Amino acid sequence: MLLFFILGLLVHFVFFGSIFDIYFTSPLVHGMTPQFTPLPPPAKRLVLFVADGLRADTLYELDENGNPRAPFIRNIIMHEGSWGISHTRVPTESRPGHVALIAGFYEDVSAVAKGWKENPVGFDSLVNESKYTWSWGSPDILTMFAKGVGGDHIYTYSYDAESEDFGAHDVTKLDTWVFDNVKEFFHAARNNRSLFSKVNEEKIVFFLHLLGIDTNGHAHRPTSREYKDNVKVVDDGIKEIVSMLEHFYGNDGKTAFIFTSDHGMTDWGFHGAGHPSETLTPFVTWGAGIKYPQKVSAQKFDDADVAPLMASLIGVPFPLNSVGILPVDYLNNTDLFKAESMFTNAMQILEQFKVKMTQKKEATLPVFFTPFKLLSESKQLNILRKARSYIKQRKYDEAVSLCKELIHLALKGLSYYHTYDRFFLGINVVLGFVGWTSYAALLIIKSHSNLTRGVSKEVKVFQMLLALELNILILPHALLYFLIT
Ligand SMILES: [Zn+2]
Repeated sequence: MLLFFILGLLVHFVFFGSIFDIYFTSPLVHGMTPQFTPLPPPAKRLVLFVADGLRADTLYELDENGNPRAPFIRNIIMHEGSWGISHTRVPTESRPGHVALIAGFYEDVSAVAKGWKENPVGFDSLVNESKYTWSWGSPDILTMFAKGVGGDHIYTYSYDAESEDFGAHDVTKLDTWVFDNVKEFFHAARNNRSLFSKVNEEKIVFFLHLLGIDTNGHAHRPTSREYKDNVKVVDDGIKEIVSMLEHFYGNDGKTAFIFTSDHGMTDWGFHGAGHPSETLTPFVTWGAGIKYPQKVSAQKFDDADVAPLMASLIGVPFPLNSVGILPVDYLNNTDLFKAESMFTNAMQILEQFKVKMTQKKEATLPVFFTPFKLLSESKQLNILRKARSYIKQRKYDEAVSLCKELIHLALKGLSYYHTYDRFFLGINVVLGFVGWTSYAALLIIKSHSNLTRGVSKEVKVFQMLLALELNILILPHALLYFLIT
C-alpha cells in the first residue's frame, strides 16, 4: 500500500510538471540566417524615445485651455512626421513591452515562470544588430538588451534607482537625468576622438528610456496634474535633444526619430491587463526615411512592428526572433525599397518557420508528424519566386501584398508548430488522470464494501487526493488550455 501511495504521489508530480512543459515553453528558435535589405538605408542613426507608461489619449488630447500637452510632439505630428496608435499586448508590463518594441516578439510565458529580471532565453534585438547602441534610463530595462550576445557594442547609462534621495521628491528627475546625461555625452564626444568617430558611424542607435511618467502615474494616477505635467517635461526634453542632435550632426538629414511608450495605464494607476487605457500607446516617428505629415491608420499597428521599422530605417538585419510586420505606410522611400524591405521581412519570418518545423519534425516519430499544410516547401518557393519576379517587373504593390501573405502564413505555421504537442499531451494527461482516479475509486469502493474492516487510513488519503487533483491539477490544465490555445 505504501508503495502504491508513493507511486501515486510520483504520478501527480509528473502531471503537475507537465503543466509547465505543455504551456510554459518558449516560442523562440535559434539558428536562423540574418536577413537584411540590399539597398542603402535612409538613416544613418536612429533615436528611440520610450516614455514608460504613457497613454495615447493623454499625449494626443488638448489640455483644459485647449493647448497641446506636448507642443513639440504636436508640431511634429502636424508638419514633420507620421503618427498613429500602437497596440501593446497583455501583460502590459515594461519588460514585455520593451521586448516587443526592440526585439519584435511577444515575450513567452516562460519568462514569467523564470523571473522578469534576467533573460530566460537569449534573444536577438535591434540593439544587438546595431553597430553601436548607447542607452540611458532605468537599469532594469537597459540591462535586458545589453546582456549576453557579444554586448561590447552596447553602452548603458543608468541612475542608481535604489539610492533614497534619487527622485524621491520629484520623479521627473528620472527623465531630466536622462536628457542631461545625453547632452553631456554629446558634449564629451566633441572632445573625444574615438567617441566622436563612433557616434558618426552608420547603423547606430540611441535609446532614451524615460520612467518619470510611469512612476508619477503609479503614485498619483494618470488623471493627476503630476502625470500630465510630466508629459510636458518629456516634450521639452525631446525638443532639446532633437535640436542638440541636429546641431551636432550639422543637419545632415540622416537621423530617424521614434517616440512611443511600452504600455499605458488605467485611470486608477495600474497596468498589466488588457484595458484600452493600458494597451493603446502613442506612436510618433519623423526624420530620415519617414513620410510626413500623415496619420497612418491603414493597418493595425502593433508594438512588435516597430522593430522591423527601425531595422529597415538604419539598414541592419531584422531581429531574428521578430514577428513584427514592417509598416510600409510609414516609409518615405522608393517603391522598390518598400518591396525589397517587405521581402526581407517575409524571408526573416519564414526562416523561423523553417527552423521550427525542422525541430518539431526531428522530435516527432515520422508516422505522427503532420506538417502545416498551408505552407508546404513548394508553396514557399512558389511565393518567393513570384514575389521576386514581381519586383523585377516593377509590380511593387503586388510584391508587397504577396510578401504579406507569406508572412501571415508563416506566422500561422509558427503558432501551429508551437502548440503542436498541446492537444496530444493534454489528452495524455487527461487519460492518465482518468485511469488513476478510476483505480483509486475502485480501491475505495472495494474497501467500503468490506464493512467489517471499516475505512482504512490509506483510503482516506486517496479520497483526499481525488478531491485535490480535481482542484489543483485538472482545473488549471483545462483553464490554461482554453486560455492559451
Ligand atoms: Zn513600463
